[in-house]
Amino acid sequence: MTATIVIKKGREKPIAQQHPWIFSGAIEKLQGNPAPGDIVTVVSYDNRFLARGYWNPKSQIQVRILTWQDEPIDEGWWRRILARAVAGRAILNTHIERDGAAAAYRLVNAESDYLPGLIVDRYDKWLVVQSLTLGIEVRKPMIAALLAELLKPAGIYERSDVDVRGKEGLKAAVGRLEGESPPALIPIEETSHFYVDVMNGHKTGFYLDQRENRRILFDLINQDISGECRLLNLFSYTGGFGLTGLAAGGVHAVNVDSSLDALELAEKSIQLNSFREQQHGESWEFIQADAFDYLHDALDRREQFDIVVCDPPKFAHNKQQVERAARGYKDLNLNAFKLIKSGGYLITFSCSGAISADLFQKIVFGALADTGRQAQILRHLGPGDDHPAALTFPEGSYLKGLLLRVY
Ligand code: SAH
Repeated sequence: MTATIVIKKGREKPIAQQHPWIFSGAIEKLQGNPAPGDIVTVVSYDNRFLARGYWNPKSQIQVRILTWQDEPIDEGWWRRILARAVAGRAILNTHIERDGAAAAYRLVNAESDYLPGLIVDRYDKWLVVQSLTLGIEVRKPMIAALLAELLKPAGIYERSDVDVRGKEGLKAAVGRLEGESPPALIPIEETSHFYVDVMNGHKTGFYLDQRENRRILFDLINQDISGECRLLNLFSYTGGFGLTGLAAGGVHAVNVDSSLDALELAEKSIQLNSFREQQHGESWEFIQADAFDYLHDALDRREQFDIVVCDPPKFAHNKQQVERAARGYKDLNLNAFKLIKSGGYLITFSCSGAISADLFQKIVFGALADTGRQAQILRHLGPGDDHPAALTFPEGSYLKGLLLRVY
């Protein structure tokens, strides 16, 4: 018998609408004696079945829902839902996995794949797992074994070293879970090739959520820019957008980041690519600097670029930080606009969940208005289709961006 969570009268609506989180404030009482991480059955005040999920009394989100059907959550359930998430990437595989290329993409996107707290990314032959909650943590060996059975990777590595685990009462956990340890650097292939440091890099090693936007940049340079293209890649990390630009040909890419480690890895990745032979006059710079300072200096030097990519880290971690974050985004975009040649492009992002796509567009509009320039939205940008967003879980849609043509 699983324990039962009884929901307060009038608080069942979000659960019935399939939002996966139940906060402690919505709970009337707990019946039974579950261990932290155990499966609980969620019922209404008048004892109607609502959902089933895993329980963590230490977290403000006391229950994360796994199913809204009255079904057992056993190993067969986990196998089925993991297989469903993986199958959801099948179209993508045929698209990017030409000739056994060393593909990299997300296989399991947590709540948005109806597997709360679990992230699984693929880098060539390896899987990298992030366990964000206690409910996943206590099932980690089973989940790793199921992933090994399903996908037959060379190895599974864990990168559960994120701050949110603290809210679940968990410490960081890093290391090999199954099979071989990955090499220190895994080469992966998109339009450009990259080294990924899955042991020390951000997230699970690479910004997989920008994969489709890198492709959009590649196409833009190929289709719309003739002659030499000056590309400014602000917040470059390991060179995702910069090296993609170089792969398109004829590009001078200026990559700016405050992290020397990230820039050094970007520079190493140059060696994996044909543009190191500079067949079409490609050239590159890696500049360790604060992006805000770099922009001011570049304006003083009257530099001009055909394309500016601006992909800063999360500025707003909660609602209280939105105003300050908005000033940061405005300042960046204002100066970015000023550096763009007439007819050039700005590709600008925010990965702050607390800032909606609408608000972000308003901030960028405010920046534009201060410059007196003109800009057209060519595309609204978001993550690729390996990062699906459950319609019932808006919290999962953090990345938004705009592709703008600037006059
Ligand atoms: N565009 C990258 C991801 C960017 S992540 C990609 O597609 O791979 C954000 C990056 O901003 C990190 O690499 C971090 O080191 C860098 N960063 C954070 N604050 C910065 C600042 N003030 N100036 C420059 N870089 C900064």
